[in-house]
Amino acid sequence: MYCPKCNQHYRKKYSNIRLCACGYSFVFGHNDIIKDRLMLFLERKASQNGTHYFTMDTLYAVYQKLQIKPFPSVKRTTLSQNALAQKYQRWQKHSSLRSDKFIEKPSLQQPENPIGEEVFEYGVEQIIVVDEPLTVDLFVKNNKHLNKKAVIISSEGYPAYLKPHLQTLLQKQPNIKIGFLHKPLMTLIVHDFR
Ligand SMILES: [Zn+2]
Repeated sequence: MYCPKCNQHYRKKYSNIRLCACGYSFVFGHNDIIKDRLMLFLERKASQNGTHYFTMDTLYAVYQKLQIKPFPSVKRTTLSQNALAQKYQRWQKHSSLRSDKFIEKPSLQQPENPIGEEVFEYGVEQIIVVDEPLTVDLFVKNNKHLNKKAVIISSEGYPAYLKPHLQTLLQKQPNIKIGFLHKPLMTLIVHDFR
């Protein structure tokens, strides 16, 4: 396996190696299906080299794409999303190379952190309704609401603090475009949705 930090290769006889000569501490071992270098690769793809926020869905979509066109070190065992999520949790907890762009839980509930409200100042041209609160976070943290001049809410009305703004908006612009984005599609197009 390879060190994700300095690319040093370790053969199987060093199967107990936990620490690379460069100082990097391995999260996974020789017997893990996913190794450190692959996890770093998945994360870089999901975050577009650290420039975008991503969720587990994004990471899994990247992983599944690799299964179609296998990366040299990917064994042909396909992990379920849950299995990958467990491994990723370990990586997030222990790797010094982990990304800070991972969104684990929705965090826009609090009005004191009203990310998304600024769109009302620039003029809203559409409302985008998504399936899950986490998808709202994903799009808003990646500034899709500004690029699309859109209010992004989940079908169950998250984040709730936007509700009065939405009511006013619908009164002022009753013919505003409303789009629905469902999750399977979203997972596929997350990189292209601008
Ligand atoms: Zn190293």
